[in-house]
Amino acid sequence: MLLSPGWHTLSMSFETVSEEVIRQERARAREIRQSAWWRNQIGKGQCYYCHERVHPNDLTMDHKTPIARGGRSTRHNIVPCCKVCNTDKKYLTLSEWIAQREDEGRSLACAAHLLN
Ligand SMILES: [Zn+2]
Repeated sequence: MLLSPGWHTLSMSFETVSEEVIRQERARAREIRQSAWWRNQIGKGQCYYCHERVHPNDLTMDHKTPIARGGRSTRHNIVPCCKVCNTDKKYLTLSEWIAQREDEGRSLACAAHLLN
């Protein structure tokens, strides 16, 4: 697949997050996955990003700002996400991904209300 021209610049910030922080935040994400709050999130049956109706079993947990990019496992940063969006977003932050999708003419449903 083609990477956006900004990819090399983006990848440099991968170095700034230590292995230990990544381990810690992944452990916290696992705890959140067991919580009533998370069950409630996926129970809504909708992808946060594209707004598609998705069966709760097919919703994955996504960090709006990935852990590897300095994001934390908090309720503000964690959203239910369909597999299509998860695969497409990869290690982009939400604002980078929105910008990339706008460039490609594939606007995200969530962009409209996030940018307002
Ligand atoms: Zn989606």
